[in-house]
Amino acid sequence: MRITRVETIPVRIPLRREFLMRSAHGDTPPVSTPVLVRLHTDAGVVGVGECTGSAQWSGEPQNVALTVIGEHLAPAVVGADPGHTSQVAARMAAAIKGHPFAKSAVEMACWDAAGKATGRSVVDMLGGPCRERVPIKWSVSARPPGEAAAIARRAVAMGFTMMKVKTGLDLATDVERVRAVREAVGPDVRVGIDCNGGWTAREALSAARQLDDCDLWFIEQPTHPRDLVGMAEVRRGVATPIMADESVWTAEDAIAVIRHEAADIISVYPGKNGGIGPCRDIVAVAQAAGLTCVLGSNLELGVASAAMLAVARALPGLSDEIGHHIIGPLYHERDVIAPPLKLTDGHATGADGSGLGVELMADLPLTIPPSE
Ligand SMILES: [Mg+2]
Repeated sequence: MRITRVETIPVRIPLRREFLMRSAHGDTPPVSTPVLVRLHTDAGVVGVGECTGSAQWSGEPQNVALTVIGEHLAPAVVGADPGHTSQVAARMAAAIKGHPFAKSAVEMACWDAAGKATGRSVVDMLGGPCRERVPIKWSVSARPPGEAAAIARRAVAMGFTMMKVKTGLDLATDVERVRAVREAVGPDVRVGIDCNGGWTAREALSAARQLDDCDLWFIEQPTHPRDLVGMAEVRRGVATPIMADESVWTAEDAIAVIRHEAADIISVYPGKNGGIGPCRDIVAVAQAAGLTCVLGSNLELGVASAAMLAVARALPGLSDEIGHHIIGPLYHERDVIAPPLKLTDGHATGADGSGLGVELMADLPLTIPPSE
């Protein structure tokens, strides 16, 4: 089987107004504009992928992703066997530096095509399931404390028993927000914080002291992504586990975090890591060093969420104690797959067919709202 063509489909999907995301990176735009991929083969099998790259997070807004996939990645992978995912990744790496989200869309479409061609799920291709139901956690936007508390209550009503609160903006308000959420959800919900690199080490240590009575489950990316020395200082100063997210895009990044003893947990997912294979490799590196991994998110729709679900089911190096962010579809007004993943009772299930186990809708929302 050979790849014959890589089709790109730019879509626009509004986010649910009540969940618009604010973090130390700024405000997420009210409309998601991912690029979907349909990977065509000479066997007639079509694999699907999704690039959720964005300007703020990865420097891969839709127009950039379309160019990277169309002009650089597609010519590099046409002719390859989609089942040879390592070779596909090597071809893409040689074609253009960076752009992990664009590369992940093509790579996950290869896994999907190879699975569909052989009747195997990506979970089985990754070694088979080690968990069926994947625990998931909510992410509370950095809204004013009262609004954040209302979002947290809503998440509990949706069945979530784990969540994180966005911090890393203004220290005093951050502390108030976390305290408001803890008071709103009570002592039985696991609450962590995600600073998105917005604090200095001193600010993080101060916040941790002020929140000592809030039973923080973890502290994610307290310091700047490149400040591993500062993150290690925070880790030495608190008993709460530290998670690295923006610090780790590649396996080499994971090793740097491990060498600095800067984190207990690493946040991974196929989009940020450039595909399912690279994500699996980082989890293996972390596991070998005694760290655990959690799936982060870039507000994926159904296809990229299915890739995350497959990884979460298959890889033993992922945490069962800290939920995974397979939640992107819940933030959107609609999805691009039918049927949708099941994201209920604080767990993710579904996508049980071959490949990634999902199919694109026939009527994709190319112009919602109409592009100008
Ligand atoms: Mg994060």
